Amino acid sequence: MYPDIMLVRFGELTLKGRNRKKFEQSVTKQIQRLLSEHEEITYSSEFGRLYIENVKNCYEHVSEVLQKVFGIRSYSPAYTTDNEVQAIQNLALSIFRAQAKAPETFKVSVRRANKKFPHDSHQMNYLVGGHVLDETPNLKVDVHHPEINIRVEIRETKSLLYSEVIPGTGGFPLGTNGKGMLLLSGGIDSPVAGWFAMRKGLAIEAVHFHSYPYTSERAKQKVIDLTRKLSEYAGEIKLHLVPFTEIQTRLHEAHKGNFMITFMRRAMYRIAERLAEQNGAGALVTGESLGQVASQTLASMNAIGRVVNLPIIQPLITMDKTEIIRIAEKIDTYETSILPYDDCCTLFLPKSPATNPNLNVVFHIEETFDFLPELIEEAIRGTETLVVKPQSEAAEETMHLF
Ligand code: ATP
Ligand code: MG
Repeated sequence: MYPDIMLVRFGELTLKGRNRKKFEQSVTKQIQRLLSEHEEITYSSEFGRLYIENVKNCYEHVSEVLQKVFGIRSYSPAYTTDNEVQAIQNLALSIFRAQAKAPETFKVSVRRANKKFPHDSHQMNYLVGGHVLDETPNLKVDVHHPEINIRVEIRETKSLLYSEVIPGTGGFPLGTNGKGMLLLSGGIDSPVAGWFAMRKGLAIEAVHFHSYPYTSERAKQKVIDLTRKLSEYAGEIKLHLVPFTEIQTRLHEAHKGNFMITFMRRAMYRIAERLAEQNGAGALVTGESLGQVASQTLASMNAIGRVVNLPIIQPLITMDKTEIIRIAEKIDTYETSILPYDDCCTLFLPKSPATNPNLNVVFHIEETFDFLPELIEEAIRGTETLVVKPQSEAAEETMHLF
């Protein structure tokens, strides 16, 4: 039994008036873009909900897309029939019988939007519920905690029935809260941080620091692949690949102590901030989680964060690793993240990185690195920028080449 309509409820309950309208339009546009290949689909909206119609033949793709669009509170696969009592009764029974495990309790909730329909919602509850009961031995009505609630909406020309309410991803429509520059390593955390930033309505660009030839081509490809995974949610993402070898080598020559990571990160943040400003991004987004490693203590984050003026968004800061991994799996970045190619920071690591770097000492030592400003300029000049597209669109592009 395939549904023919998908009913979509928008998220973010706090929005009012014109903002709400804009929110709904952005979500709808994003859904339409991702489903544009299905010409048979039509759209309508009513009571602040979106109806995606004629989805019988592409139902699975529609479900997949709805999980990827931000700003959706929930959705329901729905079935339509004529505005006739018997047709509604039969469809309700079919929905009931299509459940994988036969429910022992149920209820029917009818909403009559079409006031010309000859029975009111109370009578219809009775007529539809009665029919399901008559046809199912031992079934009971439970109005408070039914195992299945068959909802019936009697609309102008058709009736709509459904029982499932599937949670959406929530958040704000993509790009409605500005743009962030995501510092994307090849690890587990930063792609998840990027996804959270996008869910909150930030468009993202990504910046990755590589230390070729100490890091391999495959490490770079891994970051491109991660960006591609994220682009499934964003349409396309600009990825800035920054050559970091020279900076890392020179820092390592100049400082053999425990602050190496602090200096490296500060250099990264400085470059990322410059790229953010050049590309209209109003924040940096990173994947730190408090206490996870030496550079992610409050003292370290303080010493690192002070080097820039833009806000630094760290969506994972209070999350546990197991929670982060669960989301990495859900958004399909985990398998790529755990591929064993080094990112640049596993090179040149001190034996015991500072967990409590003293600000004055850090500033004082860094002042002696007079080579740094010019190397930072050089790294920015040497940055290569790619536009990374989702798998399906990327495949099409290569096809056009031949
Ligand atoms: P991740 O899993 O994202 O690599 P991590 O737990 O390994 O995070 P760190 O290595 O301390 O943490 O890095 C902290 C953050 O700094 C990363 O989440 C990422 O945002 C940024 N970062 C680290 N290395 C790079 C890099 N080579 N290029 C871009 N950003 C980086
Ligand atoms: Mg890492």
